[in-house]
This record gives sequence, structure tokens and C-alpha cells, in this order.
Amino acid sequence: MDNGRIVWGPHADHGFVLGTITDIGHNTITVQPTATNVKPITASYNQVFPAEPDTKKDADDNCSLMYLNEATLLHNLRLRYKKNKIYTYVANILIAVNPYQDVPSLYNQQQVKNYKGKSLGVQPPHCYAIADKAYRDMKVLSMSQSIIVSGESGAGKTENTKFVLRYLADNYGAGDDIDKRIVQANPILEAFGNAKTMRNNNSSRFGKFVEIHFVKGKVVGGFVSHYLLEKSRIVMQNSRERNYHIFYRLCCGAPDDVRTRLHLTTPDNFRYLRNGCTQYFLTDVEASKVKAFSNFPMQHKKKGSLNDILLNDYKDYERLLSSMKQIGISHQDMMDIFQVVAGVLHLGNITFEEAGGSSGGCMVSEESKTSVKITSDLLGLEANSLTEALTTRSMRSAGETNTINLFRVPLKQAQSSNAREALAKAIYSRLFDHVVSRINQCFPFKSSQGYIGILDIAGFEYFEVNSFEQFCINYCNEKLQQFFNERVLREEQELYAKEGLGVHEVTYADNQDCIDLIEASRVGILDILDEENKLPASSDNHFTSVVHSKHKNHFRISIPRKSQLSNHRNLRDDEGFLIRHFAGAVCYQTVQFVEKNNDALHNSLEQLVSSSRNKLVSQIFENSKTTSTKGKLGFISVGNKFKTQLGQLLEKLNNTGSSFIRCIKPNLSMQSSLFEGGQILSQLQCSGMVSVLDLMQGGFPSRAQFSVVYNMYKSIMPEKLKRLDPRLFCKALFKALGLDDNDFKFGLTKVFFRPGKFAEFDQLMRFD
Ligand code: ATP
Ligand code: MG
Repeated sequence: MDNGRIVWGPHADHGFVLGTITDIGHNTITVQPTATNVKPITASYNQVFPAEPDTKKDADDNCSLMYLNEATLLHNLRLRYKKNKIYTYVANILIAVNPYQDVPSLYNQQQVKNYKGKSLGVQPPHCYAIADKAYRDMKVLSMSQSIIVSGESGAGKTENTKFVLRYLADNYGAGDDIDKRIVQANPILEAFGNAKTMRNNNSSRFGKFVEIHFVKGKVVGGFVSHYLLEKSRIVMQNSRERNYHIFYRLCCGAPDDVRTRLHLTTPDNFRYLRNGCTQYFLTDVEASKVKAFSNFPMQHKKKGSLNDILLNDYKDYERLLSSMKQIGISHQDMMDIFQVVAGVLHLGNITFEEAGGSSGGCMVSEESKTSVKITSDLLGLEANSLTEALTTRSMRSAGETNTINLFRVPLKQAQSSNAREALAKAIYSRLFDHVVSRINQCFPFKSSQGYIGILDIAGFEYFEVNSFEQFCINYCNEKLQQFFNERVLREEQELYAKEGLGVHEVTYADNQDCIDLIEASRVGILDILDEENKLPASSDNHFTSVVHSKHKNHFRISIPRKSQLSNHRNLRDDEGFLIRHFAGAVCYQTVQFVEKNNDALHNSLEQLVSSSRNKLVSQIFENSKTTSTKGKLGFISVGNKFKTQLGQLLEKLNNTGSSFIRCIKPNLSMQSSLFEGGQILSQLQCSGMVSVLDLMQGGFPSRAQFSVVYNMYKSIMPEKLKRLDPRLFCKALFKALGLDDNDFKFGLTKVFFRPGKFAEFDQLMRFD
């Protein structure tokens, strides 16, 4: 780093800007940006990075650059994004920047063929190349493979997952129905588990691991595991978000006979949908037109009308139906599922009012009596029992002569509303479980020689207000990050060892302490929460205090301080905690943690639904009864169930070979061709890519087999050299060129280059 050197200096919006060093101080460097409209930057040494000699040239594999650092990576991505090259490698890791527009040339059938059987790097970077690598590794190594797709909401995880699935089905399907079914499962999962959010119009509100199983290299079946459906969305959405797609599709898209049978009208008529939907995109004028539009009979609606959302919901119903048909779900099964979905909507319309009198209880409001009737019919319940279960709670008391008395305690209005929401969430989430297992029945397999599993799960989340959902997802990301570190760094070091390079061990940021803080038995936050759930008078504040008292001096956790708080309100010490995750500190607000950690319904509600006349309803609750770990206190732990599922997932990942696709969201406004450097940089940092670059910069990221080097350059070499075996050929060649011994190392089968040195060597050969 000398005066006059071209470097990247840090910049809040762009991530980095190019400039020249003008002053080198004791602790800081001053950079004069090349762009005239940017002020000089003074930054610490570790924030200024050397730039490549040619800043206009991009590289397929970032490791072929001379300088591997976050600034050159960001710049490489930027150069490529401008040319619609959305994929880039960092060694074997694929980075995918969301183009926010269709790039048909990337995914056409020809491309699907282009990548078949090709090693990584033969074709331009692509998720197809990763899919094919997984397939070839599975066959050659006789070992199942996993592809871990990560990134924040809207980064493109689900889209890439779909491309990978389709690639494998198209190239390696047996040509029967099974491959098509695996592809068609997605629209169904998305209908029930995706919703429009402020970050993504089609946001997956659950995680999934999709396995494709093979026998003799051909697809024989599949299996989907799912994680943590966001339940709060069923009863409440942020004012600019929507509920799950299926609700709107039924209201807007179902044919009249279905809508009549399910008593479905426009979304505005349902409390669970009213928040978002019709108002979201629209001005008041448009909203009134939409209202008129909504009242218009469906069959007369034309394409290209005002409300894209409603129209999409209309078309998407047809698409959903055709996917369900193709995958082999019968019409009756579909209708049974839709009936329960409609039941949930009507349940949401039941409201309560004070009953008056001395009981302090409440009753169903006059205007929602019809809703009680419709809900009961749709869900196979007795109207009276439903009303009773929602407005009272049965309690037991020990009688005098060893008898047990059962009696009903009236519920207050707010308690009844809570009971209704709990019931709706329980029904919908169990219905979702049912849909997934129904899908799994559609591609069964008798035997399997191996599988490729694709993990599509939400990345690290940090919102203004962070609750139990973010806590769980960030816990999951800690585990996945640990897996990533171990895999990528371990594999790299194993390779060095195998090739006898004698490079010393590289250490990496260990996050085991954070994982322990959450999942350790007894003292971990999840167990403390479970203990709280089991207390007769549990409270979020008490739980929070216990967490703080058990981990007073833990580096990873502290009380929520004013400066680190969510913007909207200061939290008391017993209202939250701050956890220093690998990707940054997050302040969790613990209100509702206890409630959200419990998957059990109150006894009266549980009994009500498990004895439903509707077969599907009783079945989904029957399953939950037998598979749950329900204790005598009516508590099923959400956190610990997730912990177990994660444990199983990690065990699978540990036993498979793995590839990584890191998805990047280029901007917050979901626009094409807008590259917001600052926030892309923070995603690269969060995903661990920057640590990988550090490792590579200190290691030997470019490598080539001796035979490849031999074949590449033999034609321009004198006869004498050509007769040598490839290893000696390389040695002689490097000596003749006068390469610096520090720039490369000879392994057993490959030559390894320090960062950028392979490209330099290649240049040398071409000019000579
Ligand atoms: P979430 O965590 O919210 O589920 P996600 O990472 O799964 O987010 P996607 O739903 O895959 O995000 O992508 C968001 C949107 O970005 C897509 O609906 C699509 O419009 C666009 N998109 C993503 N990847 C691509 C791509 N490769 N080509 C074209 N459009 C894409
Ligand atoms: Mg998704």
C-alpha cells in the first residue's frame, strides 16, 4: 500500500469506490476517489483494499483474480451483473445475484443440455453446473449430495431451487411421471406456504429440504421435509403484506360452484385477509375501481385489468389445480383441502362481544352467527360445540370423594379471540403438514441408491422488531454457518493435505458458543423457554429474566440497551435480549415467546376438532396427537421440535457431499439492473463469503492438473519439453519462465497457484 496506488475505499452506498491513495497516516489511509463527485475517504487500514490492475475485466471464478478481498469480489459481481451474468464462482461456491427479470437465454432447454456431464468451469457459472456436479459426485463417489441454497428474503433461493430441480428432472429423469411430479410439487407448496411480503411478492414462509432419489442414475422418487411454517401470518399480516396465496386464489379464482359451496366472496369480506390484499398496491381511486371489479362476476373479467393481484390469483387457481392434477391428487382430495382452508377463513370472521351479567364472559356477536354456522358446516363441527369451545374453557377439579369434577369457565372477549386465532393457526398449519405429506405420497420410491437434497431455507433475519420466528431462523443459520465453515475450510485443508502441500492449518471464526447458548440442555435459551411454558403462571418477562440471570457474563448475550434497540420502542431488561450472531447483533423482543413456543391447543379445542365429522379435520388432529410429545401439561414445544428437526437435517448434511449457492438480493426495491453495492456487501459478509476469500487469499485458490497444463501449452513448446511427463513438463516450464517459487506449489496431481498467479502465468504464456 503506497501513495498513488489504485485501491478500493469504503463507501456506505456503493460498498466501495475506486480511488488513489493520497496519504498514509498512522492508523488511517486517505483515498481520493476516481469519480469526481465523491469526497475523499479516510478509513482504517483494514477497510482499504488493493484493486486489480484491470478494473474493467470480470472473472467467472473470482479466485482467478490477483487480489481476493471483499472489494474485488463486489466489483466483479457488479461488472458481471451489468452484463446479465448473474452467476459467479468463488472456487466451488456459486454466487447468484437476482436479476429481477426473466433471462430466458440462461435457462432454456439448450442450456439444460449444455451443462449435462460437464465439470465445473467448462461452461459459464450456473446453478445447472452445481446441479450436475452434485449428480456426478453422487455417482462417482457413491455418496448422496446436498445443495444448500441460502440468502435473504427475495434473494432468489426458491427460484434457483426450482431451476436445479427442473435440471435434474429433465436430464436425469426416467422419463416417467415421477420427474414431472417433483417439479409440479412446487406450485402447490407455494400456494399454501408462500405469501406476498414487503420483501418478496412470493416469499416462502417455511423452509424445505427436497430430496430427489436415484437408482442407477435415474430419478425414482422424492421426499420433501418442511420446517417452521410462519403461523402468525394466518391470523394477522403486516399492513402491506398478504396472507398465504391459497386464500386469495380460492376467493378470486375458484369457479362459482366451488365459491358458492364454500361460501367464498371477495377477500375484503374476510377478517384474515382484509389487512393486505386489495389495498396494498393501489391508490384510493384504484381501490374503488378494484372494489367494483371484485363485485363483477369472475367469468367476465378480462386479462390486463386493473388489479394484477386479483387477476393473478384468478389464473393461479387454474395453475394450482392443474399442478394438483398432474401430481396425482384427486379432485375430491383437492376439494376436501379447499374446504378446510375456507373453514379457516370463516372461523376468522367469528367475533365476540361482552355477555353482560356477572359472569364476565362473552358470547358470539350477533353479526357473526352465520359465520359460526358456516364454519361448523365446513369443518364438520356442531355449531353449539364450536361456540362453547371458543367461549368457555373446561377445567377439572378434584371432588371430595376422589371424583373429578369437570366444569366450564367463561372466557373474556380477548381470551375467546385468542382461542379463535389459536384454532385457526392450528388447523391451517396442520393442513399444511397434510398437504406436504400428501405431496410426498405422489412420488414414493421403494429403494434408493442415493439422493440429491436441496435446502431452501430463510437466511439470517434482522428486522426492526425481532420475535420468536427470527430467533428460530437465526439459530438455524448459526448451525448452517457452522456447517459451511467446517465444510468449506475443512475440505480446502484436506485437499492441501492430500496433495502434500504442507500448508499449515487455517482457523476460522467458531460460533459453537452461540449455538450452545441457544440449544444446550437445561441452560440453553430453548430449554429455559420450555421450562417457562411448563410453569402454571408462565410469563415472557420471567423467561427473559431467567435467560439473563443464567448467562450474565456470556459474551454472546446482553440486556437490550437503548442504543441497540429496535427503533420503535425501548425495551426493559426483562422484555428482550440481544444476541451477537455470526452475522451481527440482533435484539429480540420476547413478548409472545412463551405463547409462540406452544403448539398445543387448549383441551376443549383439541377435543372439538379431533372429534370432527369432517374426516380430513379429524385426521390432521389425530396425527398430531400420536406424533406429538405432548406432556401432561398440554404443551408441545415448537422450539425443541425445530431443534430436533435441525439436528436431523444437519446429520443428513454431514453425511452427504455438499455444494453451496449463495443468493444475493441486488436492491431493496425489487428492480432489475439496480446494483446497490452497500447492501450487497453486507450480504456477502453475512453469508461467510468474505471469510472464504480470506482463506483463499492466504492459500492456493487456483489449481490445475498437470495434464491440463500440459495439454494447454504443449503445442507452443519445443519438442524436448513435450517428451517430458506432465509433472516434469510443468516444472521445467515454470523454471524456464522464471516463476517465483512462492507463487505456486506442486502437489501430487495438481499445481496450485497463489491468488491471481495462474492468470499471470497464462498471460505470460500467451505473450511469449
Ligand atoms: P424468500 O426467503 O422470501 O422465500 P427467496 O430467496 O426464495 O425469498 P425468490 O422467491 O426465489 O426469493 O425470488 C424472488 C423473486 O425474484 C422471484 O419471484 C422472481 O421474480 C425473482 N427472481 C429470483 N431469481 C430469479 C432468476 N434467476 N431469474 C429471474 N427472476 C428471478
Ligand atoms: Mg423462497
